[in-house]
Amino acid sequence: MSGPKHSCGVVGIVADCNVAPDLQKTLMIIQHRGQESAGISVYNDGGLRTVVDNGLVQFALPYEKVSKLCGNVGVGHVRYSTTGSKSVMNAQPLTVTTSFGTVAIAHNGDITNYAELKGKYLAAGTSFLTDSDSELVTKVLSKYMVQYGDPIRAMKSMMKELEGSYALAILINDRLFGVRDPYGFRPLCIGEVRGGHIIVSESAAIDALSGTFIRDVAPGEIVEVMRDRFISHPGQIQKHKAHCMFEWVYFARPDSVIDGREVYDVRKRIGEILARECPADVDMIMPIPDSGRAHAIGFSIASKIPYEEGFMKNRFAERTFILPDQKERELAVSIKMNPIKSTVEGKRMVIVDDSIVRGTTLKKLIFMLRKAGAKEVHVRVGSPPVIAPCYYGVDMKAREQFVANGRTVEEIREIIGADSLGYISINGLIEAIGKPEDELCLACINGRYPTNIPGEVQRFQATLNSDF
Ligand code: AMP
Repeated sequence: MSGPKHSCGVVGIVADCNVAPDLQKTLMIIQHRGQESAGISVYNDGGLRTVVDNGLVQFALPYEKVSKLCGNVGVGHVRYSTTGSKSVMNAQPLTVTTSFGTVAIAHNGDITNYAELKGKYLAAGTSFLTDSDSELVTKVLSKYMVQYGDPIRAMKSMMKELEGSYALAILINDRLFGVRDPYGFRPLCIGEVRGGHIIVSESAAIDALSGTFIRDVAPGEIVEVMRDRFISHPGQIQKHKAHCMFEWVYFARPDSVIDGREVYDVRKRIGEILARECPADVDMIMPIPDSGRAHAIGFSIASKIPYEEGFMKNRFAERTFILPDQKERELAVSIKMNPIKSTVEGKRMVIVDDSIVRGTTLKKLIFMLRKAGAKEVHVRVGSPPVIAPCYYGVDMKAREQFVANGRTVEEIREIIGADSLGYISINGLIEAIGKPEDELCLACINGRYPTNIPGEVQRFQATLNSDF
């Protein structure tokens, strides 16, 4: 398995007005799903026009560029990839022109049989410009479009070949489609906006465009989205769903509703359950902003211990998580966060974060809190220890980097320098999400993968069925 792995945001809109400005707005709303590049493809009678660039939406897709696009249907993408794959060549939507016309694809997820499938296509004479798994998706779809000329048939065949996670917004000439992989790893939903329809990674975008949420795209479903209606087609289903638990824990916006569960509500429930499972005798509960905030509120409500904001976050600072070097990551934490001395001095506190991956962030923050005079620092974490890599679209790839890899909770506590450390249990997390265990992907916390990953333990037998 190689190639850049993407955890991104996708959108497609069809309406009776120019959709380019709304595509750009939507990408700003789902900017948290990817900050490395952004792009929009719009179709009109003149054909397909695409604007992509590296950087935040406001820089990659400024008004001067977006105002040159005009069409009633289009797709957009924000990208978040691992370090080392920042080339604008990998920016999406990816487009191709073939005998049947044009295709533009926006992909969120990771294709786990990428290497094997790419080898097969290379051997058959297909050429590739990038090492992105999304390009492979484009090539597979184009092959079947050339073969069948029918988008639905082509997409069904594509789904039979692809393994792993994919939420796709696809534009084939002027027809817009949403496709979700049979396990439903990544979110995708449909709504009504501007007298037309939208497919988008997160429902918060539909609210922000003053639209109406209709429903989630079902795992394994293909939806053709038109201005006045949408048509559902059976793609492929799998007996077990495997929604990524990390979408609720960390990745998605708190105001989004994913597969029927509001993200904020899940995070608050996590905090409440954490308070029950790992109580602490302290003066206050403090979040690590922003991702630990809802978890901390839940902890404070359940424990009846006051909630305080003890960190000032620099909202203009860069993300620390993807910096390649440990020293740089540590330095970046102090640029990003500073304790509020009057709040923390002389206090015993629980600090709540959504997850610990490498442990860099918390180690540094605890050091800063002690320097600011904190008396006791107890850590509570909204997800169980991350022990296994994600192959389905979250940037947690290197087992050897995980602080919980091969260590006890006590050993981790010592490394990060906390007075006590408590993680939510796997059962507690399942209870908070409120879905049965066999509808969730928990691979990063239990090492059991929903699909076949060479060298890893497989959790479900594939029972794929193309007639649902
Ligand atoms: P670490 O310092 O590696 O333990 O980072 C954990 C922090 O990064 C947590 O506070 C999370 O909010 C955040 N985080 C967790 N997973 C990811 C991810 N895949 N990408 C970016 N940030 C993340």
